[in-house]
Amino acid sequence: MRTSTRCVYFDTSNDPYGAMAPPIYQTATFQQQTASEFGEYDYTRSGNPTRHLLERQLANLEGGKYACAFASGMAAITALCRLVKTGEEIIAGDDLYGGTVRLLDQILPQQGIKVRYVDTSDLCAVANALTAETKLILIETPSNPLLRITDIRQVSKLARAVGALLAVDNSMLSPVLQQPLALGADVVLHSATKFLCGHSDVTAGAVITNDPFVDERISFQQNAEGAGLSPFESWLLLRGMKTLALRVDRQNETARKIAHFLELHSAVEQVHHPGFKHHPGHEIHRRQSEGDGAVVSFTTGDPELSARLVEATRLFKIAVSFGSVGSTISLPFHMSHASIPPRLKERLAPPTDLVRLSVGIEDANDLMEDLDRAFVIAAEQCAQAKINFEYEVAAV
Ligand SMILES: *Cc1c(COP(=O)(O)O)cnc(C)c1O
Repeated sequence: MRTSTRCVYFDTSNDPYGAMAPPIYQTATFQQQTASEFGEYDYTRSGNPTRHLLERQLANLEGGKYACAFASGMAAITALCRLVKTGEEIIAGDDLYGGTVRLLDQILPQQGIKVRYVDTSDLCAVANALTAETKLILIETPSNPLLRITDIRQVSKLARAVGALLAVDNSMLSPVLQQPLALGADVVLHSATKFLCGHSDVTAGAVITNDPFVDERISFQQNAEGAGLSPFESWLLLRGMKTLALRVDRQNETARKIAHFLELHSAVEQVHHPGFKHHPGHEIHRRQSEGDGAVVSFTTGDPELSARLVEATRLFKIAVSFGSVGSTISLPFHMSHASIPPRLKERLAPPTDLVRLSVGIEDANDLMEDLDRAFVIAAEQCAQAKINFEYEVAAV
């Protein structure tokens, strides 16, 4: 079965009533037959049929054997990082999600885990950073918000050579456009809050793997630390994932149009979109994925203009996160990436004039008209502010 078919195919053969939609087992405990006999389920923290159905579906979509669903993307990444012990090291991409950087920088070092930030699009830099202590390489490709590309196949070879695990955070493309396990990754991570859910109404995360040893330890973490996804959230996510392929295909297509529109716009300095031939890593991206995703970012050369632009759009709502059916616009430096610790900001923070779009499923022309209008308003406001400023200076 191809991905779009897998999105809507559920094995419901064991449902006594032939329910077309999976039931929600909204229960914390399960009755036992006798005091000494446990059934398949006993307690929802340890396992729940609705969450298990979701986990099978997640594994299935990523081409993996095992999946564990967590209460958030960060809970999933935390569970994975628990596999790294005191004295061991993690190599992390240097354009990662701000919350991931916060975890890697402010929590893991307290446990004696060393994290090295590397531009993972540079294979030599990755090779040079590897040591005998490296246990995990954590990457995002395309990264967010600068859409940098890392070669999954090549980095997986480097990881294998030193016995480290390669984990790819696939939140930006979803399994519809990229399936890292097939490219050699050991683990796929998701903030399911993004494309997998797609409706901005669930916070969830996932760890997916083909490695039974990794799965055993992640499942153990899920039960031991209690950050597994609740039955109701699992059910909502199952519902959202049915339209994953449909949404992502449409968003991918509209984002392509918008990237071209921005490329031609006189107020735009640089557009980051892996679909452009001149985008660094474009060829690698084409070899490992089937599309460019719905996130487009660009600079204007003027942080003031960027800020006003973000406030002037009507269809693009100002919000963190991405991947929803509704389009959003943000200033990553001040929003999603504000949590990068001050010490690392100079190196890891995105440019202050960078605007990030997450393209939804609205009509592409409406979205472009919205941006066009907002550019005019923002430019007028900037010009007016300049006149006011000069007037005040002259008055003094
Ligand atoms: C949002 C995000 C996360 C964190 O996920 P939450 O569900 O917000 O905890 C991790 N990685 C990436 C790439 C993200 O975009």
